[in-house]
Amino acid sequence: MLNFIIMHEVQIRVGVFAGIFAAIALWELIAPRRVLQVSKIVRWANNLGIVVINTIILRLLFPTAAVGAAIFAASYNFGIFNFVLWPVWIEALFSLIVLDLLIYVQHVMFHAFPALWRVHRIHHADVDFDVSTGVRFHPIEILASMMIKMAAIGVLGAAPLVVIIFEVLLNGTSMFNHGNIKLPQLVDKWVRFVLVTPDMHRVHHSVIAEETDRNFGFNLSCWDRIFGTYKAQPDAGHRNMAVGLEQFREPRMQSLWKLVLMPILNENEVSSKIHRKEK
Ligand SMILES: [Zn+2]
Ligand SMILES: [Zn+2]
Repeated sequence: MLNFIIMHEVQIRVGVFAGIFAAIALWELIAPRRVLQVSKIVRWANNLGIVVINTIILRLLFPTAAVGAAIFAASYNFGIFNFVLWPVWIEALFSLIVLDLLIYVQHVMFHAFPALWRVHRIHHADVDFDVSTGVRFHPIEILASMMIKMAAIGVLGAAPLVVIIFEVLLNGTSMFNHGNIKLPQLVDKWVRFVLVTPDMHRVHHSVIAEETDRNFGFNLSCWDRIFGTYKAQPDAGHRNMAVGLEQFREPRMQSLWKLVLMPILNENEVSSKIHRKEK
């Protein structure tokens, strides 16, 4: 069974991705949280275009991806969990929590350092917030994230199956918490106790820099509460808040080509600096 999962990792991940994407997209149609500002067709073509580019680059450079690091660690008896004898479920839980904390720290770093922010800003430059925003990341960020994950998996000696579960979970929750979906307030409150909800993560996509630097978590909501970066709701309310970045609002800044080049773009750089300075 395990071998089958490892052998078919790509198919499983693509299948789960397509299934969750379709489910959230349908949910957005049935119960949308906000009225979107621009045409979905153009945005989705660009956001999914970057997913195709990312997948090709990632698989060319790291054919076995993160699970390859786990298989390597297991075959060479490398990493903490290949030396301690903890029950499998504790190892799995511990690895999932540590990897999630790492993703939180990485996200904070991509906001804190100007060079990394240039790479991460394509995620924030989306003028709408929906399921497709959850997969809109620059190839450099995807590659950096993969290398950090592989190093952590090596140090932990995390099992291949745990790594596959983490990757599927991270991908799935990212699409869920970017969904333009309406959750009953009580459900949001209870889910948010453990997981990042769309309302919680939407605060992070606010055009106001002070709100952009809140709610960095992707999976577990506890990291923002522990490290003091939690903000429950946007000041303007979810329906009225502006999403995106001031300097990249024009349609010409949202083409696939511009998204790829965004880290080196200097358009309206002055307003960009003002925006970051105002924090
Ligand atoms: Zn961010
Ligand atoms: Zn986001």
